[in-house]
Amino acid sequence: MSEQSIHTEAVIIGAGPAGLFQVFELGLLGIKTHVIETLPRPGGQCSELYPDKPIYDIPALPICGAQELIDRLMEQIKPFAAQFHLAEEAAQLRRREDGRFHLVTSTGTVFDAGAIVIAAGVGSFQPRRLALESAAAFEGSQIHYSVRNAAGFHGRKLVIFGGGDSALDWALNLAPKAESLTLVHRRAEFRAAPASVERMRALEAEGKLRFIEGLAQALHGEPGALSSVTVKANDGVLHALPAEHLLVFFGLAPKLGPIGNWGLELDKRAIKVDTEKFESNIPGVFAIGDINIYPGKKKLILSGFHEAALTAFAVQRYLYPAKKQFLQYTTTSPVMQKRLGVAGG
Ligand SMILES: Cc1cc2nc3c(=O)[nH]c(=O)nc-3n(C[C@H](O)[C@H](O)[C@H](O)COP(=O)(O)OP(=O)(O)OC[C@H]3O[C@@H](n4cnc5c(N)ncnc54)[C@H](O)[C@@H]3O)c2cc1C
Repeated sequence: MSEQSIHTEAVIIGAGPAGLFQVFELGLLGIKTHVIETLPRPGGQCSELYPDKPIYDIPALPICGAQELIDRLMEQIKPFAAQFHLAEEAAQLRRREDGRFHLVTSTGTVFDAGAIVIAAGVGSFQPRRLALESAAAFEGSQIHYSVRNAAGFHGRKLVIFGGGDSALDWALNLAPKAESLTLVHRRAEFRAAPASVERMRALEAEGKLRFIEGLAQALHGEPGALSSVTVKANDGVLHALPAEHLLVFFGLAPKLGPIGNWGLELDKRAIKVDTEKFESNIPGVFAIGDINIYPGKKKLILSGFHEAALTAFAVQRYLYPAKKQFLQYTTTSPVMQKRLGVAGG
């Protein structure tokens, strides 16, 4: 193994609710984890798709906001100090002859892992792209799907596409600093917070920002040197907008991504597992949460939590086959309480 690889007992792929609770269940058994997550923050569907919505079917929490659930899980797993590798996608996975795993992420981080738990939900969230053939030539340089360095847009001619919170927030943030800024959305209704829409309309009235209801039709310029974008307004009028940068916020769509290339047995884009260990067809690779499938599977957070508990024991058995397993309660086990960093009660 190369010197730079991270040697660890277990790697969890995906930081949705199932992956986060897996950190906890493995932590209780004294197993250290690294977590890889494509997005720049943990939370999976709860944080990306419905952060403000209340969830009513988490045991003992009659009502819990989706983001609140993630915040609580992050708090609960703190004692186990899992290392998070955010904004990295698990890209390659290979089982070695010694039964350990060689895993490489999209940014080149290499792991030498004892076991793998895939908690990848409905797959990696990827930004929905601008559906113009010539877009690829400008992506990464002048077409952006997220903002890494806002200062780079100051004093520039900008066009922002989208009607959700990201589009509105960045339009409001950058309008006072850009040379020009046009917001383009396919309709007059927005998915963003009403207060943001109001502020956008106020800036429009002051002439600090332009709003067009319409769609991108064509890009102009040399690859790497975008000069303008043609937008077709819903009333049929074509607008040629000078543009140095396009910021596109059409939301995120899940893609199974590289997981489909790892030799895992799949059924309907989900990983087939047994219901005792939640192990895939590759020994030592387990799958929990929305990404797995077995007879009777229900894609609920509750199911992911249960699967994480049983998988922890299966991972322990895979890593340490000779170790005697027995069930301990957090209420009474001094060993678990020590791991949790709490005084015995
Ligand atoms: C609107 C809505 C409401 C819902 N309400 C409820 C409810 O009330 N109760 C309930 O029980 N369930 C509800 N659900 C379903 C629930 O959100 C899912 O069951 C749950 O999020 C699954 O958790 P997970 O951890 O398996 O996957 P996810 O939450 O999908 O998280 C998986 C994570 O893995 C990451 N990932 C994927 N591939 C890779 C890779 N190759 N490398 C690195 N990271 C990767 C993804 O980016 C993602 O962050 C709801 C879902 C939606 C959309």
